[in-house]
Amino acid sequence: MNKSLSVIVPCFNEEEVINETYKRLKAVLITLDLNTEIIFINDGSSDNTEHLLNEFTLTDKNIKIISFSRNFGHQKAVTAGLNHCTSDMAVIIDADLQDPPEVIPEMIKTMIESNSQVVYCVRKSRKGEGIFKKLSAKAFYRLLNFFSEVRLPVDTGDFRLIDKSIIREFNQMHEKGKYIRGLVSWIGFKQVPFYYEREARFAGETKYPFSKMLKLATTSLLYFSTKPLKLASALGFFSVAFSLILGVWSVLGKLMGYTHASSGWTSLFVLIIFFGGVQLLTIGIVGSYIGNLFDEIKNRPEYIIDKKVNFETKEDGKSE
Ligand code: UDP
Ligand code: MG
Repeated sequence: MNKSLSVIVPCFNEEEVINETYKRLKAVLITLDLNTEIIFINDGSSDNTEHLLNEFTLTDKNIKIISFSRNFGHQKAVTAGLNHCTSDMAVIIDADLQDPPEVIPEMIKTMIESNSQVVYCVRKSRKGEGIFKKLSAKAFYRLLNFFSEVRLPVDTGDFRLIDKSIIREFNQMHEKGKYIRGLVSWIGFKQVPFYYEREARFAGETKYPFSKMLKLATTSLLYFSTKPLKLASALGFFSVAFSLILGVWSVLGKLMGYTHASSGWTSLFVLIIFFGGVQLLTIGIVGSYIGNLFDEIKNRPEYIIDKKVNFETKEDGKSE
């Protein structure tokens, strides 16, 4: 029997690109000797995306749609797709054609030849993206690797091919703050890179404004490392050592007469803001972890589904 492949496509207000995405994906999928389906996740779009997706299902029964009750974010949308995936393999791909669907057959070939469980796509270049996005992404992936306790491949998005064992393990993970590319690395097995040219967005605007990028960055940092906490302790240790030396020096100086304490406004001011800064930073770091604990402990579902199209059973989702 043929193996099966699901293509997971998160969509948030993608009316300008979704027709083209469907067309290009379909053109690739029909060339494959596999049973294929596309799972579109409509992440609370307020434009015509849902209507366009529904139109695809009129002529194509291998299209599935999961519509969220509101915008839950890209990582939740991909999570929902994986939670509903029963195929032997899955490709996670953006809806905006920055990740070219035409490389999917080569990714599958790479997976078979290398006998691996994950083929992750590494961006050789990023077209059509501003200098700020490129530099911040580059710096971020390297900083994250410095902090992280597992090695995370750099310059890699969620565009990847994963097999059934990875999907199964991923679906066992119940943390709410998901950084999918990190979790896939964390799962392990054999993972091989696949180099590709990242295209410019086909149409429309990025759906990842700075605020969403920052949220993804903090989730990845806080969920993959306790090093910021160690950094906070190190800062505390450094300030105590520094203040002890300074304390001894100034007391001795007063006794022996080599300091002139009355002229110390500047040094006092600098010390107060320095230690104040260290304390606030430390509280901030601890607070971020507590905030995440708070979110996890509430144990709310990761996403709420409004509608599902072309799914056989009602029970195949994790949360409704
Ligand atoms: N996306 C989503 N929910 C969001 C934001 C983005 O499902 O809240 C989808 C979006 O439709 C696209 C993918 O995530 O398919 C990546 O988004 P985008 O291309 O805007 O990000 P960029 O490539 O600019 O980082
Ligand atoms: Mg994009």
